[in-house]
Amino acid sequence: MMIEAIKIQPRMLMGPGPSDVNPRVLAALAQPTVGHLDGQFLVILNQVREMLQAVFQTKNTLTLAVSGTGSAGMETCVDDLIEPGDAMLVCIAGVFGQRMKDVAQRAGARVTAIEVPWGQVFTADQVREAIAKHGPFKVVGIVHAETSTGALQPIEAIGRVVHDAGALILVDTVTSLAGVEVNVDGWGIDACYSGTQKCLSCPPGLSPVTFSAAAEKVIATRKTKVQSWYLDMNMVRQYWGSERLYHHTAPINMIYALHESLRLVLEEGLQKRWARHMQCHLRLKEKLEAMGIRFLADADHRLPMLNTVSIPDGVDDSAVRKRLLEEYGIEIGAGLGAFKGKAWRIGLMGESATERHVDAVTSALKAILR
Ligand SMILES: *Cc1c(COP(=O)(O)O)cnc(C)c1O
Repeated sequence: MMIEAIKIQPRMLMGPGPSDVNPRVLAALAQPTVGHLDGQFLVILNQVREMLQAVFQTKNTLTLAVSGTGSAGMETCVDDLIEPGDAMLVCIAGVFGQRMKDVAQRAGARVTAIEVPWGQVFTADQVREAIAKHGPFKVVGIVHAETSTGALQPIEAIGRVVHDAGALILVDTVTSLAGVEVNVDGWGIDACYSGTQKCLSCPPGLSPVTFSAAAEKVIATRKTKVQSWYLDMNMVRQYWGSERLYHHTAPINMIYALHESLRLVLEEGLQKRWARHMQCHLRLKEKLEAMGIRFLADADHRLPMLNTVSIPDGVDDSAVRKRLLEEYGIEIGAGLGAFKGKAWRIGLMGESATERHVDAVTSALKAILR
């Protein structure tokens, strides 16, 4: 059998992830693979941790990249903090909040869920009332940037309410990190996970996580073992820390890629990167609204990097997305959950947040919809 080598046609990735990857990151990925205890590699691991601390804006020592995509980070944070029977409040504003509830139930948590309509966000008062009514809780979980609806949750105020009630706050920053502000120490976030394929613009495959001292203590003093052997931070940290104890083989080349993508983020600077995402969002908004296309998320809480827009009446959702991909090489996302068939999700994440991307997708849509 002779199967031909892969030859990929490049795309403009403007969906909910993955986003475009900088050639420097692809070049890093192609560096020679070395052993996971090779001195050259250990230096890289330490630098990745340092750069992750800078991007998360934290001094947390338990900061590392979990082997697996964003969902593995979600499972790591939930599984490591929750023991069977623990009470957890999950704030659901879309698909990823629903997923967190499922993960928590599988970990044996007694889950209480509160929900807001799609496209909206929670207020600190809603969370305070839920805790008063159904608490106490060990952990409160919430998604910062809900990629299924395009809404940005105000985390700082909710974090205060959660801490006042003596609980830990667990935050999904898969889509938000490196696209809008995420201030782990400033906002008092206890556990937080992200993903490489969204605003970090690295291929999918790793999930940066960070835990506060309080969360670290909870993990270290569990009465039961973490249900996942693979995602048990009590073991994984002994490889990322000075012990360098073998647990599982680190995805060496993916760590090279993350290293380069973090270098790119810090070279640009966090503030400048957030501003670039916002400028591109505003440009996209202006152009789409001029075409009569409406945004779906609450106007005061819109994500810059993930734009959910209403599909115009009478337009064939999948036919338009197919033409965008095949004729223009542009990928956008379909609606998920309650927005299935109703929304397009246009991503402006990391390397895909440029004027060139905005202009390409809007002129292609204009031509197709004409
Ligand atoms: C993409 C995403 C995830 C899941 O990440 P995967 O890399 O697909 O596993 C989790 N939460 C949010 C908010 C996301 O956008």
